[in-house]
Amino acid sequence: MSAPPAEDVRACPQCRASMAQLRLRAHNGRTVLVDHCAACRLAWFDMLESVQLAGLGWVELLREMSRDETLPPGASRPAALGCPVCAAPLKTVHNRTRWGRFPMQECPAGHGHLHSDAGLLAERGLVRPLLPPERSALRSQRRVLHCLGCGAAVEAETRAEAEACAWCATPLLVVDLPRLGHALRQRGVAGEPMPPADGVPLRWPCHACGATLDPTRSAACPQCGAGILAPSLGDLKPLLDAAEHELRAAANHPPRPKRAALPPRTWRDTHLARLLRWLRPE
Ligand SMILES: [Zn+2]
Ligand SMILES: [Zn+2]
Ligand SMILES: [Zn+2]
Ligand SMILES: [Zn+2]
Repeated sequence: MSAPPAEDVRACPQCRASMAQLRLRAHNGRTVLVDHCAACRLAWFDMLESVQLAGLGWVELLREMSRDETLPPGASRPAALGCPVCAAPLKTVHNRTRWGRFPMQECPAGHGHLHSDAGLLAERGLVRPLLPPERSALRSQRRVLHCLGCGAAVEAETRAEAEACAWCATPLLVVDLPRLGHALRQRGVAGEPMPPADGVPLRWPCHACGATLDPTRSAACPQCGAGILAPSLGDLKPLLDAAEHELRAAANHPPRPKRAALPPRTWRDTHLARLLRWLRPE
């Protein structure tokens, strides 16, 4: 991928490190600039309107979000963060989602808005609470749950009871795989409807038995019955790879003209007729 022209590299409002600049595919052929700090799990959008990312935009954003998932949680969030453009103190607005209130902060001068990774996913309805049977399944499979808010590993003991991360108080949420599958299938091309849900299945290996399944279509593995769960964003990698492959393939192969446009097949078009013509030229 060629490097984008040098735009102002923004400093993270929390840790002051340079943020990664992403150009994400949005709906209607638009591109959205997002600055992301992987350590603080913060995303800055340079506009005030809400953005509808296309499938490839989500693939890239989720890759960036899971890039440094093993980093230890950053310092606790200072009370007031400044706008990365004009440094004015950001104004906190609470975005109510189905799974709780997530703070979103905006620049009073309209330069943009700042979201936590978890808040961004919750606002788009891409997360759900961790269910009690999933807590015990994670424990027996010895898999680690990472808090979507800060990335901290949530201890099995805590996980059995707690509703929120002990470190950052974000509710214990996991990615809602069927809803993510729907978001990933959005090609986001003007005038082009979403590919039907019966398109190519997204492939993912079952964590319990290794069988290949589509986590966006079933809640449990058809082979061994294990529940399908992504306890950390890093677990989404096979799904993101499959979705990216599917979306790029679809972009390279625009929809074919309708079959009715083809001339009707006659006996002379069949393999047998061609073979006979080859054997006995007319
Ligand atoms: Zn930061
Ligand atoms: Zn500003
Ligand atoms: Zn946390
Ligand atoms: Zn299985």
